[in-house]
Amino acid sequence: ALPEAAVTTRTTCGYCAVGCSLDVVAEDGRVLAVLPGRDGPVNRGAACVKGRFAHGYLRADDRLTEPLLRRDGRLEPVSWAQAIDHVARGLNAAIAAGGPDSIAAISSARATNEENYLIQKFMRTVIGTNNIDNCSRLCHAPSAAGLTASFGLAGGTDSFDDIERADCLLVVGANPVEAHPVVGARLLQRALNGATLVVADPRAVGLAGYADIHLRPRPGTNVALCHGIAHVLLDEGLVDEEFLRERAAGLAELTETVKRYPPPVAAEVTGVPEADLVAAARSYGRARCPAIFYGLGVTEHLHGTDGVRSLANLAILRGAVGTSRGLGVFPLRGQNNVQGASDMGALPDSLPGYRKVAEPEARALAESVWGVPVPDRAGLRIPQMFDAARAGRLRALWIIGEDVCSTDPDSNRVAAALDACPLVIAQELFPSATTGHADVVLPAASWLEKDGTFVNFDRRFQRVRAAARPPGRARTDFEIVHALAAALGADLGCPTPAAALDECARTSPHFTGLSHERLDREGALPWPCPPPGGDARGKLYTDRFATPDGRAHLAAAPYLPPGEQPDDEYPLLLITGRRLEHYNSGSMTRRTDDLRLAPTDHLDVHPDDAARHRLADGRPVTVESRRGRARLTVRIGTQTEPGQLFCAIHFPDSNVNALTSDHADTATSCPEYKVTAVRISPG
Ligand code: SF4
Repeated sequence: ALPEAAVTTRTTCGYCAVGCSLDVVAEDGRVLAVLPGRDGPVNRGAACVKGRFAHGYLRADDRLTEPLLRRDGRLEPVSWAQAIDHVARGLNAAIAAGGPDSIAAISSARATNEENYLIQKFMRTVIGTNNIDNCSRLCHAPSAAGLTASFGLAGGTDSFDDIERADCLLVVGANPVEAHPVVGARLLQRALNGATLVVADPRAVGLAGYADIHLRPRPGTNVALCHGIAHVLLDEGLVDEEFLRERAAGLAELTETVKRYPPPVAAEVTGVPEADLVAAARSYGRARCPAIFYGLGVTEHLHGTDGVRSLANLAILRGAVGTSRGLGVFPLRGQNNVQGASDMGALPDSLPGYRKVAEPEARALAESVWGVPVPDRAGLRIPQMFDAARAGRLRALWIIGEDVCSTDPDSNRVAAALDACPLVIAQELFPSATTGHADVVLPAASWLEKDGTFVNFDRRFQRVRAAARPPGRARTDFEIVHALAAALGADLGCPTPAAALDECARTSPHFTGLSHERLDREGALPWPCPPPGGDARGKLYTDRFATPDGRAHLAAAPYLPPGEQPDDEYPLLLITGRRLEHYNSGSMTRRTDDLRLAPTDHLDVHPDDAARHRLADGRPVTVESRRGRARLTVRIGTQTEPGQLFCAIHFPDSNVNALTSDHADTATSCPEYKVTAVRISPG
């Protein structure tokens, strides 16, 4: 029984991008329980173990509760006034020495839209640089680039509300049962109720056990797989010719490209049996209402944007996007608000609503709202920030809610970059590998302690409401940005999160009509925001695509191999990803007693490889790549194919990102986390 004084607050989950509504029960600012919102627009009364139970971290003993300043090599507590003053003086010194572009900020997909909006506004209007990026750079930047090129807008094409209409689910490079559990459950339910389920993933992920067809392409061969499927669609007439004639472009070029990927060739490149590939193509091609879901197994590759576009090709060929004959393409975004952080303009080349800084009209609209000039040259992407720091060109780096020394690839080089940067500011909940390299550490509030909105994987804005108080002197990112602006003599306006969203709504037509007041009343709204009483289901492109010519664009780029291949020295391929019980670097879930279910990480090894390398189940194993070394515990099983290994990203002590490479998507710089050549040895 809950105490009488307990208060229940409706908010939106701050873990994955499904966007489950949660009812948080708290007493005197302390969370007692979290219950799934029975009328949640996305979750409809469901929640997974993370959203339901992973709140113990709020009161963890090592939660950061006061600002810290490095003196004589040690981080020491200081007042907020001292910390902000130190940062402000450091930023002024950096501008004096190297100009505004010698400062960069990494915003956070964990932060609210309003915080992201304010942070990018601060960087552009107070500092005067476009050096602002967010961690979508590490996951779904290829989705934004690929979906924009194919359809015109940087988001999924349809509403998940319509999932019951789908009769064929093509799930590619994603493990929603663990990484997006509520979506995974609904996909499974849909499959059990009659939809054909085709899973394309190198591993035997949770949904694969229920799939009608499980394709296991070699890591890094998605484009060849999709071109093989496209070949069958075209060859067997399983395309919508009228749609292609009236609403698409690029068919001749794609037809030429896919001629090179008949099923035997695609099967050879991908390792997928030819018959399975053809069967998958026919399932998708003959469905009345197919839908595509994909995850980081598509994007985190050297040619991740090509992977997204080759999937989009399939929906276009079938006329299954922008029509009632399909549910288009759903990118299963990783973090709770990675869509929103990008929507808000926390990107080096884009203002809110993806309007390009290079375009005078886009700058003019932002300048009319902000009242100051906006720099016109695209800023640095996250990997470029580290390059600039190592080269001595970056004098200050502000990192918000991201443990870059654990989560970014080739982490030894990331740490070297921070050490080379004169001022590193880390805004965090807990001490981390990154705070260990910071000059100033600012204690931040978590998602259960703040007010604002998140955008989920199908472009829905939902309200976030504070259910607990930040501990000690921790502050919200929103408050910290305002304090820093004030210390630099600037007033960012937007004194409240509600005012920030109101202002944001004036900077891009995508957001016109959005407000906290309307979200409080209506529950959830997609972008582009419908007028009051309009269709809030968020299906895009029913009239025309948002490309300059109004057509969907087929992409004809050929398959190109991943950055690394196994060789004699490093004969195995490592894939990294997520497990159900933990979240990203695990800073919150590992500090929650209820989730001690999975206290250590494992390296999944096929029995053949275990025998070949003399590995025993449950015993330690050393994994080495060309860049570094990690130690894990062996778990022998058939979830991975022979020659492939898998480990999660949730345990920084395992040092997994010392292994991963800086090979990155050629279009967006998204790292190729999914293909690392390694060798293993016992011990
Ligand atoms: Fe939170 Fe995602 Fe779990 Fe829903 S499925 S409760 S959004 S972590």
